[in-house]
Amino acid sequence: FLPHLVASLEQVEQSYIMVKPDGVQRGLVGEVISRFERKGFKLTGLKLFQCPKELAEEHYKDLKAKSFYPTLIDYITSGPVVCMVWEGVGVVASARKLIGSTNPLQAEPGTIRGDLAVQTGRNVIHGSDSPENGKRETALWFKEGELCEWTPAQAPWLME
Ligand code: UDP
Ligand code: MG
Repeated sequence: FLPHLVASLEQVEQSYIMVKPDGVQRGLVGEVISRFERKGFKLTGLKLFQCPKELAEEHYKDLKAKSFYPTLIDYITSGPVVCMVWEGVGVVASARKLIGSTNPLQAEPGTIRGDLAVQTGRNVIHGSDSPENGKRETALWFKEGELCEWTPAQAPWLME
């Protein structure tokens, strides 16, 4: 039953997903992981981590000119985050849908932000916005030995 998995290898994307400090403090880690697990994506990296300022700045470097950048860096470094890498075909766009709009008040019910948050500055979760950024952010937050390649037992029951 493996050939179909091998054939789609080049379509497999990585999304860097992070429960932000508010999500950790509010006890939402299990809830977030559960939503990605139930969807059927594969977890290949997971750690609780206190983010240093330099890493937060590198991660959000594209937003450096924004007025909210300093408070964003304070927010992300204000307590531990849970760093994850989820893999799968189409995982990047799908994760963004599961997460919902940046402003939780505009996020649809059923999404993580739509169900669990009220403010943009406390929106619980990060998800990569493109497959390229998925790779970039994975390399930024994880060392090679921290990622795990494995085949979930459910693989043939998720993909025909
Ligand atoms: N953010 C903020 N104020 C804003 C816009 C964004 O505090 O007006 C924060 C928020 O935590 C958001 C992060 O900056 O998740 C990154 O912004 P981006 O536009 O990339 O949103 P995302 O990709 O997280 O939905
Ligand atoms: Mg973004």
